[in-house]
Order: sequence, then C-alpha cells, then structure tokens
Amino acid sequence: MAKRTRVIRVDPDAPQVAAIAIAGRAIRAGGLVAFPTETVYGLGANAFDAAAVAAIFAAKGRPAHDPLIVHIAHMDQLTQVARQIPPLAADLARRYWPGPLTLVLKKSERVPANLTAGLDTVAVRLPDHAVALALLQAAAVPIAAPSANQFSRPSPTSAQHVIDDLRERVDVVLDGGATPIGVESTILSLVDERPRVLRPGGIVVEALRASVPDLAYEPIFFAEDDNAAPAPGTMLRHYSPRARVILFSGEDDAEVYAAMRAEIARHEGVGLLACAADAAEFADLDIAVERLGANADEAARRLFAALRALDQQGMDCILARAPAKAGLGLAVWDRLLRAAVGSLVVV
Ligand code: AMP
Ligand code: MG
Repeated sequence: MAKRTRVIRVDPDAPQVAAIAIAGRAIRAGGLVAFPTETVYGLGANAFDAAAVAAIFAAKGRPAHDPLIVHIAHMDQLTQVARQIPPLAADLARRYWPGPLTLVLKKSERVPANLTAGLDTVAVRLPDHAVALALLQAAAVPIAAPSANQFSRPSPTSAQHVIDDLRERVDVVLDGGATPIGVESTILSLVDERPRVLRPGGIVVEALRASVPDLAYEPIFFAEDDNAAPAPGTMLRHYSPRARVILFSGEDDAEVYAAMRAEIARHEGVGLLACAADAAEFADLDIAVERLGANADEAARRLFAALRALDQQGMDCILARAPAKAGLGLAVWDRLLRAAVGSLVVV
C-alpha cells in the first residue's frame, strides 16, 4: 500500500529535535524511516518488531535470505541483540565505534528470525552520524537498517536517491544531506575460528589487520544464478545501475586505455566513471564522464551517485577502471566488481 512519505530536512550535525521526535515515533509505531549514516542512507525499523522488519524486506524487494544489520545507540543495547560478546568484539567496539565497522556475533533471542534470515548470528554496529544516533535515542530500540535502496541498485548517498527508489514505501525520510563516507560498513564476522572480513567497507582492512593479526579476508563472489545459496553478503549482482558496467583492470596505463577505447567504439550511449587521470586521458572523446575524484576516499564518496547519474543520462554501458585495492579503494573495487556482475576485463 502506498504511504504518504514525509521528507524532513535536518541539520546533519545538530538534528532538529521535532524532526527526530516524529521519526522516532514512526519507528515505535512499526513504521519505516530512512536516515543518513556516515556510510550510506539506511532504511530503518524497530529491530525487535518482526512485522516492521518484514516491511523493510518488502519495501526494498530484498530476498528473505539476505540478513539485515542492526544499529545501536550505546553498548548496553549490544547485550540486547547479541548473546555472546567475545573480548575481541568488546576491544573492536571500543576502538571503532561509533563508526563503519559491523560485527557479526551470536544473536540473542530477542532478535526476530526474519531479521537474520534464519541465521543464529546477527550483524550489529554503532553508527557515527548525529542524525542516526539521535533517531536511535528517540526510538529507544535497536534499529534494523539495510541500505535504503531498491534491492540490487546502487546504495543511496543522498535523500533524493532514497526518494527515487522508495517513494511511497517509507513513512519518513530524514534528509541530512550527502553521506560522508559513501560506501557501506566493513563487515567482520567473529563467530568462526578466525575473524573474517565478509565485506570491505568504511573501516579499511589495513587498519583492522593492525588490531586483528589473524584476520582473514578472501573475496568470494557467487553468481546470482548459482544453485548453491550464496553466503550472506557474497551475492555478485549488487549495486547495479540499469546500464551494463564493464570494469577494466591492468598495470599498463596505455594498454588499459587502448582496451577501453576499443570498447567505447563498440557502443552508442557509453558513460565513463573516471578518476582525475583517466578523465584527462579521454578528454578528446564526446562521451558522458562522471568524475570519481583524485583519491580513494573521494571515489568512495562519489561512486554510487556517479553510477546513478550515468543511468539517469540513459547510458546503456558504463566503463570504469579498477582502482588500487588499498584503503577505501578496496571497498570501491568490491562495489565496482559487483556492479559489473563479473564483466571484468583484465588487460
Ligand atoms: P546492507 O545493510 O544493505 O549493506 O546489507 C547488510 C549486509 O550485511 C548484507 O551484505 C548481509 O549479507 C550482511 N549481513 C547481515 N547479517 C549478517 C550475518 N548474520 N552474517 C553475515 N552477514 C550478514
Ligand atoms: Mg545494501
């Protein structure tokens, strides 16, 4: 059923109390509230209300086997959602929260089964954004919130992206401007023998390695049509614009550029996602270019908006060059590869 969506602007650093009160009441009434975090916009509902959690899946068109992340406002709430908090989890929480690190822990009984897709584990984080924290305080319950996009579309980094994807499916959108990091949180599982990164994100793997010497990270991508059920977070098709994305990887600049030019010549409406150097290289061509900026942090901030912008210009193909897998570049590379659904050209 179509909802009348209220879009309310809020100051991202000092959100207006009245706006937060409206959004907090909507959460407590079982409604859906989209809100900014430091990573991307989240689509939130009361994590202890199975019907409200089901409404998140329905609004996004998200498959029931893909579990949600629970957001908390303070450490007391961690014990409400997780039944075991190993010393490493407490250490990492002290070091990185509030911040873009999601921990996978054994779930408590209070967390409904649909939130975790039937798993015995729960993903949880404490976000570093004044609007998210104020909303959590006002709601006074943990908030389940995946990214506030239609399933498999690029994640939303502005309120307009949320409205474009989920208009009339959300009760309240808190518009706190663009999200500062632009890619999702790093997901770290602490339920196996070794701590394992399930998704690279806002807390860079190099930093985590310093705190967790036996950290495991093996990027595994499953095709969506694989018969085997994909492990959570490993679905290959994700973050996809409507246009086909082709990702180019290679050490030799000249060879990579030559391969990209050959591909450009094969298409009508082709758009380019380009770092500063790549944009200069293709300046002679009459094609749509979205600039990702000069470094990995800027690329992370701009990536999803750039994919959406090229879609809006009606491109049928988007070309990008794989970034170096260092710092936030690893998360950008991961998102680009999933947007490209495996169309990786290694030069
Ligand atoms: P999103 O909030 O949209 O970025 O999606 C949440 C991500 O967290 C998805 O990739 C999920 O697969 C992952 N996730 C949530 N809960 C778990 C869990 N219990 N174990 C592993 N991954 C999880
Ligand atoms: Mg998502």
